[in-house]
Amino acid sequence: MNDIKDKIEALRSKLHYYNFEYYVNDKSLISDFDFDHLMKELQVLEEKNSEFNDLNSPTQRVGGHVTKNFKTIVHAERMYSLGNTYSEDEIREWVDRIVKNLDGKVPSFTCELKYDGASINLTYKNGYLLKAVTRGDGTQGDEVTANAKTIPNIPLKLQGNYPDEFEIRGEIVMPLSGFSALNESRVAAGEEPYMNPRNTASGSLKLQDSKETAQRPLSCLLYALVGKNLGFKDHYQALVEARSWGFTVPNTLVKADTIEDILKYINSWENKRNELPFEIDGIVIKVNDLRDQELLGFTAKSPRWAISYKYKAEQVATVLETVSYQVGRTGAITPVANLTPVLLSGTVVKRASLHNADQIDKLDLRLGDQVYVEKGGEIIPKIVGVNNANRGLVEDCVTYINSCPDCETPLVRIEGEAQHYCPNISGCSTQIIGKIQHFIGRTAMDIEGLGGETVALLFHEGLINNIADLYSLRGSDILPLDRMAEKSVENLLIGVEASKKQPFPKVLFGLGIRFVGATVAKRLATHFISMSNLMRANIEELVGVDDIGQRIAQSLIHFFEEPSNIDLIERLTQSGVQMENKSILLTSTTLEGKNIMVSGVFETLSRNELKELIEQNGGKVSSSISSKTSFIVAGEGMGPSKKVKAEKLGIPIQSESSFLSMLSL
Ligand code: AMP
Ligand code: ZN
Repeated sequence: MNDIKDKIEALRSKLHYYNFEYYVNDKSLISDFDFDHLMKELQVLEEKNSEFNDLNSPTQRVGGHVTKNFKTIVHAERMYSLGNTYSEDEIREWVDRIVKNLDGKVPSFTCELKYDGASINLTYKNGYLLKAVTRGDGTQGDEVTANAKTIPNIPLKLQGNYPDEFEIRGEIVMPLSGFSALNESRVAAGEEPYMNPRNTASGSLKLQDSKETAQRPLSCLLYALVGKNLGFKDHYQALVEARSWGFTVPNTLVKADTIEDILKYINSWENKRNELPFEIDGIVIKVNDLRDQELLGFTAKSPRWAISYKYKAEQVATVLETVSYQVGRTGAITPVANLTPVLLSGTVVKRASLHNADQIDKLDLRLGDQVYVEKGGEIIPKIVGVNNANRGLVEDCVTYINSCPDCETPLVRIEGEAQHYCPNISGCSTQIIGKIQHFIGRTAMDIEGLGGETVALLFHEGLINNIADLYSLRGSDILPLDRMAEKSVENLLIGVEASKKQPFPKVLFGLGIRFVGATVAKRLATHFISMSNLMRANIEELVGVDDIGQRIAQSLIHFFEEPSNIDLIERLTQSGVQMENKSILLTSTTLEGKNIMVSGVFETLSRNELKELIEQNGGKVSSSISSKTSFIVAGEGMGPSKKVKAEKLGIPIQSESSFLSMLSL
């Protein structure tokens, strides 16, 4: 028995170690494959030996814990806010005040970046993460331990010489690369992109399902150790030590002995902040010596020994020339402000997103307005205000359009959604072209030799009207078109032909079903194996799949209800596009030539697992009883009418267990 415990412990320490080296030290000591393998091994052992369960096992990182209501926890030590400064003068005044309060002693300082995310308080006991609590109102916050555990660089078990009990504070940030990747996949799935990394990070911490948090690219940067008698002399030393226990303390932390050192730090990061992998909204200066900190104490809101210096988000004034409206491939309308070009943070800005109708109303925009543009947390610049002294004419007030700029169909706005939509899915050319462009894209069918502009050309020439038409394109039709040569036509046709080999998940993603991004498509394809299974699935079966919620399920049902979509799929299938997961390995041919119907609820398998088994063993799943049905696998609650029909047709009924024994399982 102890052997198993030792084995589990050994796996846990190995995984903790690899994880730490990877996420904190940036060192990859093992391949992803081997890592996953060890993790799987540990998972299986833990499942079978629940008496050795440990809430800080590396397996907890994948999430799975669902919190309906976050528990409110009172902070043992209040989480203060920070005083702000915006100028060199204010920094000097702050330092003067401190020197006065310390009876003339000039202390030394530390400078850190002010990480822009959501603050978190982590409690550790005997080297294990005990709980993670958000700042809340400073006095009490929400316990989000299950979610925090999924953040890869938060150590679940410490190493080295750590105190028995302490709290450590930090900021959960979403690095910019992860943020844009997340947004890209949202846009690809027809969802609205998130506004900025800060809000997304804090929203991610409050997701009810920790499995979802595990999917978010988050990182925790630590900035303060809290606890009595931890034995440190100064803040700098404490953070450097914490680093050795496994925490990510960015090495942008420095000591500063003079005001000049502080100002140098401020200036150097003002220029370099755009190169950081995450966002900052300023820097934080702290008195280094912990005794000095204690002497200085706190005001009602913030420590006297620390202050932030906030960088001003760069802002420029320019003129709003026009507002245009873009139609996305799902029909969503995005208003865009066209501005007189202006230089902002090193790039020329000509356009700014206006998000939706509410945003325009809020700003009460008029054409000709002098507007202020800012590149704040957002990647795309936004209009933050209007210069009241320099407004456009009242009659040039921006009123949101009522009909589609492309096809003139009246727009609709679904209740509870901010966006307007053009409902003319099958006749709106921008949507049609957008859908085909999405289908041929690199992340979908990856059709080389065919670009977005050619798609538009082929559409306008009447050669394609949907994705299925791509497969009936003939060289002789394309060659006469503008800018088309033998070679380019050949490449185009080769690309189309090659796309028939693209695996089923890519095809499913390529269909551009709302909310079905690349990840969701993969998940659906793995679960349902084939398009026909997926099309047959009802809401319950769809939401039964990991990570598939009501919204995605509804969207799929809606898509498959539309006859033109069924038609499209039918034509794609005829053309030889992959409509099932070829990765299913035939485990036997026992069921070859058999049409099998599945009905009712089963004891050991889900309906879909059962269907999977049938296909893996060479059988076909049929959706209704007919004389061609070979047999029915019936579970609990098979409908009486089906039973009568089966009896009438003389079709045998198998129980779950007899079916499994047929496959020697
Ligand atoms: P504010 O919200 O503007 O009052 O600033 C206080 C917040 O700044 C704290 O709650 C922290 O979450 C955050 N912060 C970010 N980086 C640091 C840092 N290096 N030191 C202290 N606080 C920081
Ligand atoms: Zn339209």
